[in-house]
Amino acid sequence: MLDLAIIGGGPAGLTAGLYATRGGLENVTMFEKGMPGGQITLSSEIENYPGVTGEITGMDLMMPWPEQCQRFGLKHEMVEVSRVSKNSNGNFDITMTNGDVQEALSVMVCTGSSPKRVGMKGEDELFGKGVSTCATCDGFFYKGKEVVVIGGGDTALEEALYLAKICTKVYLVHRRDTFRSAPNTIKRIKESENIELVLNATPDEVLGDSMGVIGLNVKLEDGSIRTIDVPGVFTFVGNNVNNQVLIQEDGSFLCDMTDWGSVIVNLGMETSVPGLYAGGDMRIEAPKQVVSAAGDGAVAALKAISFVDEKLNG
Ligand code: FAD
Ligand code: NAP
Repeated sequence: MLDLAIIGGGPAGLTAGLYATRGGLENVTMFEKGMPGGQITLSSEIENYPGVTGEITGMDLMMPWPEQCQRFGLKHEMVEVSRVSKNSNGNFDITMTNGDVQEALSVMVCTGSSPKRVGMKGEDELFGKGVSTCATCDGFFYKGKEVVVIGGGDTALEEALYLAKICTKVYLVHRRDTFRSAPNTIKRIKESENIELVLNATPDEVLGDSMGVIGLNVKLEDGSIRTIDVPGVFTFVGNNVNNQVLIQEDGSFLCDMTDWGSVIVNLGMETSVPGLYAGGDMRIEAPKQVVSAAGDGAVAALKAISFVDEKLNG
């Protein structure tokens, strides 16, 4: 019987593991389908993790985290979890894709999320070289420059407003002429002096070479191509929350979720199910940053320690 099962070994999962084991939980296993570290290991540069100065890759940042946790007794199983469910003992069953099942008193789910791709030419080749899905992470690299934002939902509009404070100009490219965003956000976009709306425009190709992005071609309503010369293209065309492990046999979710698939938690990272915690990029209103994911992991672990203590000792 595990005291705590952690699903996902990114910044949230590793920090939960550190706090849980160092805080006294004896039997804690982190289930991570790949190498621990999470999606930040794909980043060639991270400048906003507090206390880390100089040029550092995401891989460099995350390298020492597993070792630090293992010193305090965190166990790691490299396996994919298929489902977390409640069992007849009132505990949780962790079912693996290889068919194994482990029982746990408490669970922290932190399987992250993945931004959707636009599907235009050049997008994959230039990802990380001027194509970005994170304004908070990469916006600063375009300080005093012009950038494109693609998308017409809440995320695209909010990130366009954020980038407009850093960049000289933001071209907001949307494939229709109406947005699916909160009316007040649309009002602020329309009132922004340095945001140009490029509407009814389908992203066609990101232009660039090995040095990085130099522009974006968009197809306009009349079939003509407009080239926007920019060094940065930010895409916000939706997000897949990695919430599959919470889907039950009958298709329902184990805990309360938002309409768009994020886990609803309170400030203690507690879900609607006692003993089940969630954090990092998969939770509601996630800032989608390493530092906040790590913070969520710490908060959840502290709550799990109290929950397990109460369960075992009354
Ligand atoms: P993740 O890091 O996504 O980790 C989730 C883990 O769960 C993964 O390792 C995955 O393999 C595992 N997993 C998923 N499903 C299962 C399953 N079923 N079974 C077992 N394991 C599973 N943030 C910053 O603060 N600054 C930056 O500069 C920055 N730059 C970024 C650049 C890029 C290119 C990317 C992609 C992200 C960047 N981020 C940055 C965002 C940051 O990486 C995330 O906010 C952070 O990693 C979220 O942590 P997490 O623990 O919630 O999830
Ligand atoms: P979203 O609402 O799904 O919007 C995605 C946008 O990208 C849409 O405008 C869509 O165009 C466009 N798009 C999708 N695929 C595209 C493609 N291949 N090429 C070009 N454009 C494409 O996604 P989101 O903005 O990330 O929001 C997700 C959910 O989170 C929503 O429910 C949103 O309300 C919520 N959210 C809320 C807040 C908040 O409340 N403050 C903040 C952020 C997100 P179409 O419009 O033509 O389909």
